[in-house]
Amino acid sequence: MDKHRSKYLANEDGYYGDFGGAFIPELLQHNIDELKANWEQIIESDSFQKEYVKLLKDYVGRPSPLYFSQRLSDKYNAQIYLKREDLNHTGSHKVNNTIGQVLIAKQLGKSRIIAETGAGQHGVATATICALMGLECVVYMGATDIARQAPNVARMKMLGAEVRAAESGNKTLKDATNEAIRDWINHPTDTFYVIGSVVGPHPYPDMVAQLQSVISKEIKEQMSQLPNYVVACVGGGSNAAGAFYHFLDNEEVELVAVEAAGMGVETAETAASIAQGNVGFIHGSKTLLMQDEDGQITEPYSISAGLDYPGIGPLHANLYTQKRATVMNATDEEALQAAFELTQLEGIIPALESAHALAALPKLALKPTDVVVVNLSGRGDKDMETYIAKMNS
Ligand SMILES: *Cc1c(COP(=O)(O)O)cnc(C)c1O
Repeated sequence: MDKHRSKYLANEDGYYGDFGGAFIPELLQHNIDELKANWEQIIESDSFQKEYVKLLKDYVGRPSPLYFSQRLSDKYNAQIYLKREDLNHTGSHKVNNTIGQVLIAKQLGKSRIIAETGAGQHGVATATICALMGLECVVYMGATDIARQAPNVARMKMLGAEVRAAESGNKTLKDATNEAIRDWINHPTDTFYVIGSVVGPHPYPDMVAQLQSVISKEIKEQMSQLPNYVVACVGGGSNAAGAFYHFLDNEEVELVAVEAAGMGVETAETAASIAQGNVGFIHGSKTLLMQDEDGQITEPYSISAGLDYPGIGPLHANLYTQKRATVMNATDEEALQAAFELTQLEGIIPALESAHALAALPKLALKPTDVVVVNLSGRGDKDMETYIAKMNS
């Protein structure tokens, strides 16, 4: 494993510049300490690597192809490649992380897995690996989200997971997270909490970024030169972290993170945590998030459920502050247009989240020689209802 640590990755205390850390209830200290003391050693062990690499290959179908998109390249007059995370088993990059964390949980001797989920994508990816490993799985989900994400709730149940409704607050992701943390406090020895993005207290952001870094490791192996741009959408930031990871120290590669603007960054109906947010604390870490004058976290909005998160991982808050990453945003309408464009030019229906990354293409001042990699984080089957509504409008 690569021993060199980029200055853009977390330091020993889990800080990315001013961001990160572990702001947790006293009662969780033991769980976090246990994870902090063991996760890197586990990931570097031969037994973990053997099983992780084998599952990524035979179960997920990695390496995912790096596809040269001729017609998109013609349209934007540049060399555009798509990293096909949409072809992974379960349809997105999320499984790279859940396989890794569940294997770590097993090595720590944990028999019970908990997770929180918003739209249900992370819940499904977690329930999938728990089914594979024969582990008990409890997924917390806001009652509002349960009502509007019926297919993913059904998938989790079919996979053998118990879906528990969070009935407090707005009954969405934030409330599900609170319930999951409460569960972890109440089950301090047998339970592992699988977090779905590069968020949460240290060491989660660092661990999830490393598990997703297989994306940029493969991109580097699949290309004969460095790209000029790597573009990815950001909700919490895990697919972007994975796509950027091995390029962090290649300063000539422009890293482009695309947030969901929703109805527009100047409106209240947005999930653009960097464009509209400021410094605060969410999910146990110090980062950029959307909050009102009283410091209350505001409810985010995006047409895409996976980007509908009020904060952003501390890695990205720092990449933006250090000007290492370029942060852009795309509205609901721009993302929809990009989704239809890719579908009609390439026969690939992208996830709405990934469509936000594609929507950055017309906004980049591309030259014909520019090589661009867009991380296609997921497939669009789950978004057909939204696409159908768009066609009928
Ligand atoms: C969940 C999800 C995202 C957003 O999560 P990140 O942690 O920001 O990657 C993006 N794309 C797809 C397909 C997703 O399912």
